[in-house]
Amino acid sequence: MNKLNKPVFKDYSAFKEMSSNRRLKHYSVLNGQDAFILNAYKEYIKNKGFLNVNSCGTLSGSIAEALKYYYKEPVKCISIIDEIRAANANSLCSMCGSMHSGTLDHVLPKESYPEFAVFTKNLVPACKCNTFKSTTISNAAGHRMLHPYFDNVLCERLIRAEFTNLGQTPTIDVKIIIDPRSSDFNNVKYHLDNVVIKNDIKGYLSQQWESFYLYPELIVRGLNKSLFTYDDALNLLIRELSLLDEKHKGKNNWNSVFVAGLIHPDVIEWILYELHLGDRETSGRLK
Ligand SMILES: [Zn+2]
Repeated sequence: MNKLNKPVFKDYSAFKEMSSNRRLKHYSVLNGQDAFILNAYKEYIKNKGFLNVNSCGTLSGSIAEALKYYYKEPVKCISIIDEIRAANANSLCSMCGSMHSGTLDHVLPKESYPEFAVFTKNLVPACKCNTFKSTTISNAAGHRMLHPYFDNVLCERLIRAEFTNLGQTPTIDVKIIIDPRSSDFNNVKYHLDNVVIKNDIKGYLSQQWESFYLYPELIVRGLNKSLFTYDDALNLLIRELSLLDEKHKGKNNWNSVFVAGLIHPDVIEWILYELHLGDRETSGRLK
């Protein structure tokens, strides 16, 4: 879950160059199809990455296969596809916010929307969540996934962990923290339920808690027995959160989601109580 700058690339002219190149494998299939496909892409951009699915029509099987082929084996004029993949190999996942990406995801899936298979504004760095994400992109009420290139709301902190029944194995949930009256709220909820939760953010948060419980400094720098007051702990957590946001260039990466969940009065009180128990070393580590 991260807002990204759109790739700077002339998709329209590259597509025209590809479809009119007689030497390419699928020339006879794609030649003359520019208008239909580029008009659909124009709609895609105009609608900020999402469409009225009825406006797009159905692509013939052979055209769909040709486009999927060129996505898999990009020809020279669209080699940017490989470049986007390589440039983001070690960044976090822009779709779910997990701490790695490693692949590219079609925001509108290529199986249902092959017409956008090779266009850069439909391609975002992602992790394995792109295999869990269903091909459904919105629900009956029109609430939809968020698009890393178009949805500015992704710059805001949208979610945080919620820890209750504090102890070695607390109850962990993920809360949406933007105003429920915001026009983005339902889309954020759709995205959380269908992308982020499906990729097991709760499992990750639970692993983080395991490390945090045993040795808090593994997760929050400076969180040890030298801290005594609520304000000192609060300020340390706020600092850690801002460092994580900065490092991961966004506020909805899973490490920030974890630390944002610690910034809650009940959790801070619990941390201070727990840290100063006799079974912890000066470092805060459990003996
Ligand atoms: Zn992901």
